[in-house]
Amino acid sequence: MGFRECGRTASAQSLARTIAGSFAHHSAGSPAPPAVAEVRLPCGLMPSQVSELLDRDITPDDYEMLLQLDESVTRPTASRAGVERLAGASGDAFLGENCAICLLAFEKSDEVKVLPCTHFFHQECVARWLLERCRCCPLCGDEALPPAAP
Ligand SMILES: [Zn+2]
Ligand SMILES: [Zn+2]
Repeated sequence: MGFRECGRTASAQSLARTIAGSFAHHSAGSPAPPAVAEVRLPCGLMPSQVSELLDRDITPDDYEMLLQLDESVTRPTASRAGVERLAGASGDAFLGENCAICLLAFEKSDEVKVLPCTHFFHQECVARWLLERCRCCPLCGDEALPPAAP
């Protein structure tokens, strides 16, 4: 009886070792590279192009890429005054809808900004986007600000 228990214990231990070993083997093997597709940045370039640019001098061969970049240079970030000029609304007109930036539902007391494309966001959310990222609608990419007054 003692012998059988001992045998059972031994085989259970070796089974555990086998399982642990196979796990260890898997995690020690080369992990699959994270499947992150490159997403074009608001500036018009791919992240890899940007990090490559930061690491070296620009050459005439970069003309094509700089053209891409140029497209967005004509659409710089917004000014605080530009954001102020956006049509504002109170949150109670948007109850039941969510802000597409922070994903929170609008509340009565919220300040909402409506872009010319009719997409609407919390004032603070869209202000941060327009001031720091680009002056186009985060949902549809349309120019978010009316042209600056002359
Ligand atoms: Zn928001
Ligand atoms: Zn839009």
